[in-house]
Amino acid sequence: MIEDLEKLQKEAESDISAAKAETDLAAVKVKYLGRKGLLTQYLRNLGQLSIEEKQLYGKRANEIKDVLSSRFEEAQQVLTALKKENAFRKEAIDVTLPGRRSGYGRIHPVTQVLEEICAIFSGIGFSIVDGPEIENDYYNFEALNIPKDHPARDMQDTFYIDEAIVLRTHTSPVQIRIMEKQTPPVRIISPGRVYRPDSDVSHTPMFHQVEGLLVDRGVTFGDLKGILAAFLKQIFGDETVLRFRPSYFPFTEPSAEVDIRCVMCKGLGCRVCGQSGWLEILGSGMVDPAVFENVGYDPEEFSGFAFGLGVERIAMLKYGISDIRLFFENEWRFLQQF
Ligand SMILES: [Zn+2]
Repeated sequence: MIEDLEKLQKEAESDISAAKAETDLAAVKVKYLGRKGLLTQYLRNLGQLSIEEKQLYGKRANEIKDVLSSRFEEAQQVLTALKKENAFRKEAIDVTLPGRRSGYGRIHPVTQVLEEICAIFSGIGFSIVDGPEIENDYYNFEALNIPKDHPARDMQDTFYIDEAIVLRTHTSPVQIRIMEKQTPPVRIISPGRVYRPDSDVSHTPMFHQVEGLLVDRGVTFGDLKGILAAFLKQIFGDETVLRFRPSYFPFTEPSAEVDIRCVMCKGLGCRVCGQSGWLEILGSGMVDPAVFENVGYDPEEFSGFAFGLGVERIAMLKYGISDIRLFFENEWRFLQQF
């Protein structure tokens, strides 16, 4: 009987040392000390023996039970510590590894050109003003001398929200809003988004315009030419050659379109300039007296000029970009070049 007990103890101890994980150890514990465990059963069977035998075997069995219990406890501590150590090792961070670099963003080419235009005009005393993109028909058309049924409305396809409200087709309505609030002198530019239902290599349904307006006593066409020439030379370089071509806009009279000598072919003729050697760059003119009357300015006392230009068009010519839609695709490799 004693030999059986000692054999049991040896087996239990070797099972304990063989347990490599907490779950193995728990199973070993059940095998020997559980409710139906081998040692538990042995102790239960003592009841059938004589008192002397009970004392002898019972004492020994309880000693073994104590020994095994403390073996289990030790093994449990070792396995718990091992488990912790493994977890630490797995989650360890090597602080000596180099960090991941994040890329630098760049300012969008349209924004770059817009900022450049604003800086040039600020430098010669123009202030920068803003206006709503959702505009009344009155400000977008009527007040600019474009009544309903005026053929000039066909020059600009329009997103109508309803009969009286549009997405502005140009930044010119800001002129009206400013002149209504302010008496001359007025010297403003108004950059912003405009909308026309159009889409091809040189048109997008949303694009950016800058509107300019200067009103004071004695403003002449010579002032218009001087300021626009100075502006275009700053944008495209001192060697820029320009020409003023008579044109028509409902809100200016006389009106002129301004061309620069083609920046691609230097006037020799190429695909970009349609072999003409010239590029249309902006529209301008002396403010029509009818517009002054709409805002309560006396056309006998004040005169002024206005101009408007497309920001994407300037960016395309400056950077040699052939498709306006590239600006709005947000292709990372495209934008990274600027
Ligand atoms: Zn050309």
